[in-house]
Amino acid sequence: MVGKTADGTEFWFVTGSQHLYGPGTLRQVDEDSRMIVEYLNRHGGLPYPVVWKPVVKTQDEITALFPEAECAPDCAGVICWMHTFSPAKMWINGLKALRKPMLHLNTQVNSDLPWKTIDMDFMNLNQSAHGDREFGYICSRLGIRRKIVCGHYRSPRVLQALRVWLRVAAAWHGLQRLRVARIGDNMRDVAVTEGNKVDAQIQFGFSVSGYGVGDVVAHIREVAGREVDELVDRYRASYQLPDVSDRTMDSIRSAARQELGLRAFLQERDCGAFTTNFEDLNGLEQLPGLASQRLMADGFGFGAEGDWKTAALLWAIKKMANGLPGGVSFMEDYTYHLEPGRERILGAHMLEVCPTLAASCPRLEVHPLGIGGKADPARLIFSASPGPAINATLVEFGSKFRLVVNEIEIVPPDAPLASLPTASAVWIPRPDMAASAERWIAAGGAHHSVCSAAVGTEYMEDFSRIAGIELVLIR
Ligand code: MN
Repeated sequence: MVGKTADGTEFWFVTGSQHLYGPGTLRQVDEDSRMIVEYLNRHGGLPYPVVWKPVVKTQDEITALFPEAECAPDCAGVICWMHTFSPAKMWINGLKALRKPMLHLNTQVNSDLPWKTIDMDFMNLNQSAHGDREFGYICSRLGIRRKIVCGHYRSPRVLQALRVWLRVAAAWHGLQRLRVARIGDNMRDVAVTEGNKVDAQIQFGFSVSGYGVGDVVAHIREVAGREVDELVDRYRASYQLPDVSDRTMDSIRSAARQELGLRAFLQERDCGAFTTNFEDLNGLEQLPGLASQRLMADGFGFGAEGDWKTAALLWAIKKMANGLPGGVSFMEDYTYHLEPGRERILGAHMLEVCPTLAASCPRLEVHPLGIGGKADPARLIFSASPGPAINATLVEFGSKFRLVVNEIEIVPPDAPLASLPTASAVWIPRPDMAASAERWIAAGGAHHSVCSAAVGTEYMEDFSRIAGIELVLIR
């Protein structure tokens, strides 16, 4: 199965009914909902398993079910469907306990109406058009944020909407346990990378802890020479690395040592994301560019200059994208091409663009950096693979968060960027350069973003709804 993940995460499928229709109808409801769940698991291409739960028919059953879902550590969300009418006052006390994401599936066992044979028994059994509206009312009345998907459960549109939501809800579930290491605090005087970490944890679940860069340096010092040799061999196998001078190889070995030390530091603290700050590299020989690139490629969230919001968002989007084609990276709008009618943006960072975006095998090179006052850092150099993508940024205004998303088309550079010693992406923003930039800037969108060629706008819509934050969509 494409993108199948196996981390234990599951979703519960909850079918609502009532006792009004008699045991025969309820047996059929039971059978039908099992059949739908089996179909979804076998043929839906779902990234996570859906677990069938016994049909709920009374307020007591419903009130017991939702706290159970809340407490189940592997349950990342619930899918609700009203096969028949299920009076919604029965649902109030149960739904009040629900904090995990919900998808309301407004579906039906039959695709077509049996026009010639339809009778009242059929009507009593198949009334989600009716029951799901009653359920929808009480969800709206209770202010429950949920994704509503209407259509036959086998339709490609419904299955795709489900697949997207499952990935987003699983990322949300993981976000509740994510720890972000902010190494070396914030680039001095920069505004957008700051923010209220307490409010962020209340809103999103992830926690951010500060560490002195010396804590990382201690780990780097402990790395054995043999480990460095092995990692450099892996670099040779993975990237374009021609014969280089001894001095260059020393820099690459130093970068490998940093990668091993930083990885050990993060693993020891169970951190899935981290930030660095080129103004605080005390004890590091070079800016950990290659390490950041390779840790990103392994699923770590990353933000430069202390940007913990982008680091957490990158972790979440990488989790959503797990196993899907296309890369996801930290990104920064850098410079414009303003030729009339051919406007585009060159995005890069000093070094830290994730090689999952690369169009071809990256080159591993060492060049001066020009800032930070450290030794020349190693980095992977490549152009991003052309195709549709999004840039997404998470910004904070007091205790209010906003997700700004721009649909873009990554294109090849007009000419090889022979003198630019960093990975980069060139893109055409939608709807056009000026409208995109004006709306992004008006929305307070950061100069840092997550560039995703793997998951698109629908994922961001689901994410902002689950998180309960504002979404500004530019397309
Ligand atoms: Mn930056």
